Amino acid sequence: MVVFIDDTTLRDGEQTAGVVFTNEEKVQIARLLDEIGVHQIEAGIPAMGGDEMEAIKAIIALGLRSSIITWNRPVLADIDASLQCDTKAVALSISVSDIHIQHKLRQSREWVLQNIKKATKYAKSHDLYVSVNAEDASRADPDFLIQFAQTAREAGADRLRFCDTVGVLEPFRAYEAICRLIEEVGIDIEMHTHNDFGMATANALAGIRAGAKWVNTTVNGLGERAGNASLAEVVMALKHIENIDVGIDTTRLRTISKYVAQASQRPLPVSQAITGDNIFAHESGIHADGVLKYPPTYEAFSPEEVGLERQILVGKHSGSHTILFKFANEFGIQLPEDIAKEILARARAMALIRKRALFDKELVLIYQEICKERCLDLPPLKMPGSSHN
Ligand code: MN
Repeated sequence: MVVFIDDTTLRDGEQTAGVVFTNEEKVQIARLLDEIGVHQIEAGIPAMGGDEMEAIKAIIALGLRSSIITWNRPVLADIDASLQCDTKAVALSISVSDIHIQHKLRQSREWVLQNIKKATKYAKSHDLYVSVNAEDASRADPDFLIQFAQTAREAGADRLRFCDTVGVLEPFRAYEAICRLIEEVGIDIEMHTHNDFGMATANALAGIRAGAKWVNTTVNGLGERAGNASLAEVVMALKHIENIDVGIDTTRLRTISKYVAQASQRPLPVSQAITGDNIFAHESGIHADGVLKYPPTYEAFSPEEVGLERQILVGKHSGSHTILFKFANEFGIQLPEDIAKEILARARAMALIRKRALFDKELVLIYQEICKERCLDLPPLKMPGSSHN
């Protein structure tokens, strides 16, 4: 099974309220996406003109391995703006739900069909690859969605982007909707899912299981409101849960995640799935003990796979195994059990007072204090590394 990633960090991602990338950042994000092997990059909206158009031109001029697609309304002037950027692929986006057609477009279903037909034929006459984006597809009348997809396919569209614009799908309905589209229209499908109920990645995966060949992602799940399906989540879930390797270099997911966090001024939550600081941090005694004996006991995949490191934290929930391990492996000291227990007791108390896990230096200070109290010789210590907690 082949699945292609179309990343829209530069389009839907930048549409996040309050987020702006500079043109340099846009180019750098495109380079990083290309370097890790993303198949297609939605670079922006040429019809906006100005800096937006300059950034798209600059990205296309890089001649990346990733294909570049631009976002358009089904309006000939928009497609002309895309052509000016020298793109080879366009996304033509129009609403298909009655709620959008009546209240936003204030048009009829027939008008929608006519416009997508005309724009698709125009784009195809310029040899463009065409993704027809069915906006708000998840709230559309399913029969009208089929009619829309058929119209797009007959006009020459190469694929249909199924947009769960307000994130109201759940995986079972996503699966059924995509099965029906593929069965009745036989067009390539792309999943575009939003995270309003926290199911963007799950819905994208459900669509892929139903046969969708493309999936639209953003780095860190950036995007309108609660965001889109996250690139790292989709790639790693496909690999480890669905057994589909999309050929992305996962070891750089953390790097790209950090870069986009900084460029978007949206710091990564420490518990961000796949790439957050604490994804491989273990504190609880039982978990740390399990991981130290055999990492798969409490890790779904290894930290190196996504460019992270395992951290064993000492805090309120730690056990004495962790203390023995840390001192032996990180500080070069084989502790007697009774000392380890004493360190643990004081470390737990300190964690409670300070409401956090302990820094390595604090652990060493506790150890030195105990040695002093018991008039023990202080063995040479490896300086605690830069272990972050
Ligand atoms: Mn969207």
